[in-house]
Amino acid sequence: MGELRMSETTELVDTYGRVHRDLRVSLTDRCSLRCTYCMPADFSDWIANEKLLSTEELVTVIGLCVDAGITQVRLTGGEPLLRRDIADIIRRINELPKAPRISLTTNALRLAEVAQDLKNAGLQRVNVSLDTLDPIRFKEMTHRDRFHDVITGIEAAQAAGLTPLKVNSVLLKGINDDEAIPLLRHALENDWSLRFIEQMPLDAGDLWARPAMVTADEIQSELEREFDLTPVPSRGSAPAEEFYVNGGPATVGIIASVTRPFCAACDRLRLTADGQFRNCLFARDETDVRAVLRSDVSQSEKDAGVRAIIESVTKAKLPGHGINDPDFIKPDRPMSAIGG
Ligand code: SAM
Ligand code: SF4
Repeated sequence: MGELRMSETTELVDTYGRVHRDLRVSLTDRCSLRCTYCMPADFSDWIANEKLLSTEELVTVIGLCVDAGITQVRLTGGEPLLRRDIADIIRRINELPKAPRISLTTNALRLAEVAQDLKNAGLQRVNVSLDTLDPIRFKEMTHRDRFHDVITGIEAAQAAGLTPLKVNSVLLKGINDDEAIPLLRHALENDWSLRFIEQMPLDAGDLWARPAMVTADEIQSELEREFDLTPVPSRGSAPAEEFYVNGGPATVGIIASVTRPFCAACDRLRLTADGQFRNCLFARDETDVRAVLRSDVSQSEKDAGVRAIIESVTKAKLPGHGINDPDFIKPDRPMSAIGG
């Protein structure tokens, strides 16, 4: 185990030798959908507006992370397109001296409206979440009748060149687990890069139960009833295991966070919408960057304080998320607050 080497090498290396290049930034915990596996229909425990980082504060922290070795920034939430300053945030990140690659994870409800502006501002790719091809089921799973807005949003993103267009799907037993094959068929026909995500114990409603989750093995076997899947070599730090479909070049991914954890290769750090810096989605600790940004000291002292947090939080990262340990305790905040 080595010491953190950030200062000499501008790499964020933790005590297990993992180099951190990917920063997930939550822009808001609020959302325009209520996916059942994410937040209850009547959820109302929102972060107060005054606690949300401003455009300026976000760009300051992201800039310091980029200086420290981050090369990829993914904007997420909650629903990141609910931020009215979204194009400005992207443009300002893109204007940083060492501009990182910028991507966005969204439910796509507002995507048709903003796709071209975001592309012009410097956004490179989007991941859209869509769990079903059936509008009625979509309404049941999200508590909103907005299926067609998602499809229009995906088409607008493709037309704007926000490609490859990735689509993320969570399968739930007895709800939409009969859609693995139709979703992949549809993805192949429409040039979507599809990934299935195992349901994780991070929902605000505490509904997750291991016996009820659809596992990566089950998803793979189901897909293999119709498709020939061959593993794509060299996965690197990517969370998805990718498979060529019918010999390629099209692929499908499975993100098996629960049953096949990929923590040993993790390169991700996280900033919550209220300015808490984290080293893992499942971390029980987070460190308050917002307090430093809003303290009554000079900008250079603030920058030094934030740099120290980036360094110490990276250094404190545990070897794994521990979901499968008998004493696992989930984080105090749901995925929508941490940033998925
Ligand atoms: N609202 C945006 C969206 O849905 O794409 C961004 C935030 S959302 C939390 C990010 C991703 O997390 C989505 O693909 C969603 O399906 C996934 N997600 C949410 N809750 C989950 C859970 N309990 N287990 C696995 N994935 C989950
Ligand atoms: Fe909203 Fe995304 Fe959570 Fe669905 S998964 S409720 S779209 S934050």
